[in-house]
Amino acid sequence: MTRPIIIIGTGLAGYNLAREFRKLDKNTPLHLITRDAGEFYSKPLLSSSLASNKQPDQLAMKTATQMASELGAEIHTQQAVTHIDPAQQTVQLADRKLDFEKLVLAVGADPIRPHLAGDAADAILTVNDLEDYRQCRAHLIGKKRVAILGAGLIGCEFANDWSQAGLEITLVDPAAWPLSRLLPEQAGRFMQRRLEDLGIQLRLGHAARAVSRSATGFVIELAQGDTLEADVVLSAIGLQPRTDLASQAGLAISRGIVVDRHLQTSHPAIYALGDCAEVAGLNLPFVMPIMQAARSLAPILAGQTAALAYPAMPVLVKTPACPTTVCPVMGAPTGEWAIQETATGLKALYQAGDQLLGFALLGDVQSEKQTLVAQIPAWLP
Ligand code: FAD
Repeated sequence: MTRPIIIIGTGLAGYNLAREFRKLDKNTPLHLITRDAGEFYSKPLLSSSLASNKQPDQLAMKTATQMASELGAEIHTQQAVTHIDPAQQTVQLADRKLDFEKLVLAVGADPIRPHLAGDAADAILTVNDLEDYRQCRAHLIGKKRVAILGAGLIGCEFANDWSQAGLEITLVDPAAWPLSRLLPEQAGRFMQRRLEDLGIQLRLGHAARAVSRSATGFVIELAQGDTLEADVVLSAIGLQPRTDLASQAGLAISRGIVVDRHLQTSHPAIYALGDCAEVAGLNLPFVMPIMQAARSLAPILAGQTAALAYPAMPVLVKTPACPTTVCPVMGAPTGEWAIQETATGLKALYQAGDQLLGFALLGDVQSEKQTLVAQIPAWLP
């Protein structure tokens, strides 16, 4: 019997790869394994659905059964892969082993949990999948004050959405301005003012040190000794690629699972893409790189040759209070920012000599995105 292709993970990476593969090969047996319910949903909507009162169940566009039928695949839900044996080409589930011809790791990333003192550090919420979001929404019922740790992309998006939904938000970050890893200070301050106009409080330059239970909720102690009170604490301080399975299997690991331009790991029958993977030194936990990788890996799994290329890929920050597009600067920074600001918009261009290497557009200057992105060299030519 032909051994199947197995994809571990049914997030955007696993499902988009399966869709691309089925466009090229309708017959090879295909299995997807997930430790969750295998619903098809768009993860970016998790940080922009409360104000529009979209319920978590409405975000699930298809069930695993519907996806199995659409893909002509077997989908194993609520099943964690605990071990990979590259020599035997098998994956171990709780109660059985499955053989594979080719294996794809699309296992995503884990939210980094802050290491905080206090008796409530375990009550801090994180949202990185639909199930987390369901639980988070349940926690928010009847609550008013929310502290969000981390004013990066995801923290700012949740802050904007939840504030518009009527919650009182305090955004805490040790950096001096929001989106500090993506934006120069002047642009970060522009964003800060728009978030403050919504009523969001920003406690910048303050790392959280401890979270403790109080009579009414939680008390968060900041590094300088100040405190703030909240009913719910959400952490959005970053993601760590899931590398445990790959590492136990002896695959090369750096920040993520190391793959080459063919999405191949250090074992020739095993591939990786999505938030867990690092391609030519780049771990890019965003949708556009995943789509590029899925379109490159599908023909490879179908026996054709292909190599991944990345154009420059701007990221939309879903903060309606301050519409923002950022095209991050790749590699070691060698240039400088030039900034033009008006009352309603800000354009920041990162240039080395005449070469544009990155940009940020905030407010009403979004229409310049296409012209600017066309000038930026490919990230992976
Ligand atoms: P995941 O979706 O995390 O999927 C991982 C899969 O692996 C899951 O099915 C899980 O069950 C499975 N799995 C893991 N371990 C095992 C195991 N041992 N056994 C079996 N199954 C396993 N990107 C953008 O480009 N634009 C945005 O606006 C944007 N907004 C975002 C908002 C939020 C709140 C978040 C959290 C992310 C956002 N992103 C955005 C990032 C983007 O959503 C992710 O890059 C993408 O969804 C990751 O997909 P993935 O398939 O790699 O991982």
